[in-house]
Amino acid sequence: MERKEDRSGVGSECVPRQKARHDSQGHEGGMTCFESLIHEAVGRRQTAVTVTKAVRAVALLYEDPLTGETVEEALRDPFFPLTLYAKRHLWACGRKPVTIERAGQDLALLGRIYLRIRSDIDRCFGNAQVTCVDLNGDAVQEVSGGEWCSLCGECCQLSGTIPDPPEPIRYPGYWYAYIAGDSPLNQRFCPFLFELPPQGLFFCAIHNVKPMTCLAFGKENCLEKYPGRARVFR
Ligand code: SF4
Ligand code: SF4
Repeated sequence: MERKEDRSGVGSECVPRQKARHDSQGHEGGMTCFESLIHEAVGRRQTAVTVTKAVRAVALLYEDPLTGETVEEALRDPFFPLTLYAKRHLWACGRKPVTIERAGQDLALLGRIYLRIRSDIDRCFGNAQVTCVDLNGDAVQEVSGGEWCSLCGECCQLSGTIPDPPEPIRYPGYWYAYIAGDSPLNQRFCPFLFELPPQGLFFCAIHNVKPMTCLAFGKENCLEKYPGRARVFR
C-alpha cells in the first residue's frame, strides 16, 4: 500500500541527534546513544523496572522539546508497544545514520499516534471495558485472554486491514484511516496493538469493538498462517 509521507510536523529538528562512529560503508561503529537507550528501556519494561531515567534521556535527544515530551509520555505508558517499535523500526532500520534518524522520527510519530488513540479509547468506549486488559491498570495485571489465542501479536503486525466496525459501533474518524494503514507513520504493525511488556504479551486495544475483518480471523486461520502460535491443549 502506498503511503503518504505527511509526517505531521515531525521535521529534522524533531529527531534525535547523536555522534556515532561509522565505518567506510556508513554503518555505525557501535550502538548509538539512541539505540542503547531504547535497548535499556525495552529491557527495563520487560522486567517491570522503572524506566524514568532512560526515557528522560531519550526525550532529551530530540531537539524539539515538545516532541521529546511526547516521546517521554508515550514511553512511560505501561502499554506502549516499545518492543515492537524496537523490532520493526529500530533494529530493522539498517543502522546507517539516516535510517537511525528516520527511526527516531518514527518513534515520535508512533508516540503521538499512540497517545491520541489511548485518549480516544477511553473517551469513546471506556478504558475498563474495551478490551481484555483494564487500560486503567498496569502491565502486570492478570489477563483473562481467549481460550486458544496466546496474545503473541503476530497476526496484527501488518500494515493495514479493512476498518469495518461491528454494528452499531462507530469509530473516531481517523481510526478508519489508521486501521487501513493510512496514518502518518509507515505502519509495520497495527497502531491498536498494545503491549504488556513484563508478560511478553500483545493485545488488541479495541478487542471488544474491533473490525469485523479482525473478528473473522479465527483459530483455523491462526493455525494455518502462524503455526505454533496458538495455545495447545493436551
Ligand atoms: S497469531 Fe494467533 S495466537 Fe498470535 S495473537 Fe494472532 S490469533 Fe492469537
Ligand atoms: S484492530 Fe486489533 S485485531 Fe485488528 S489488526 Fe489492529 S490490533 Fe489486530
